[in-house]
Amino acid sequence: MSASLPLVDIPFDRRHTCWFCAEPCAHQFDYHALGHCPHPSLAVPACKECLQIAEKAPLSSIWDCHSAVKDELMRRYAKHLAIGENWTQEELEESDFSCKVFEGFKKSAWFMYQVAKERVSVAPWPLSLKGIPLDTAGFGGGFEFDGVQFSSLAKAVEHYAKMLGLDKAFLHQLLAAVGRDRFGYAVRIARINIVSTAVVKRQVLRDILAEQALDYDSIGNDSLDDE
Ligand SMILES: [Zn+2]
Repeated sequence: MSASLPLVDIPFDRRHTCWFCAEPCAHQFDYHALGHCPHPSLAVPACKECLQIAEKAPLSSIWDCHSAVKDELMRRYAKHLAIGENWTQEELEESDFSCKVFEGFKKSAWFMYQVAKERVSVAPWPLSLKGIPLDTAGFGGGFEFDGVQFSSLAKAVEHYAKMLGLDKAFLHQLLAAVGRDRFGYAVRIARINIVSTAVVKRQVLRDILAEQALDYDSIGNDSLDDE
């Protein structure tokens, strides 16, 4: 495990819990900021499962990545989550079923439901590095593209990758490089590389990052205040 990236500040009551799902955790997820990422590279505590999901879906910021992890947890635990749909906690506690079958249900299935429910609904704590809060403006919640509203950037990627037969991992990497504001551009690049090899795709990513670095240089540190 590399310890190179700065770990975000961890609230006292969230020590040893996963930033994504609040389960106890022993790992950390390194987020390498690329291109237009609105925050510096950083690390957040993560459980093993969230870590594995997050590594496949960095998207254009740690917050987009969080939505992607949540979506995937919901997909994986859809059955567990469905358990709760027919019952409320009160109903369960008040019910005077005493048969073994029902007791078993309360102990196992209901417990699994509660764990799954908690994991997908917990809000991540606001991120800060060495006491300085990260600006989340424009990076929470939904994502709109081409007039269609998605619940998250990850959902939009899911949709377009499926609809156009794109390499989802590549589209994720492109978005990490160009940022969510250039979603259409990322989709176009993914489309023209639909039959490209992994080597070509890596080169495309390198070219894009190099090009952007040049753009930054040409803008340089010129202030924008002299009109
Ligand atoms: Zn987790």
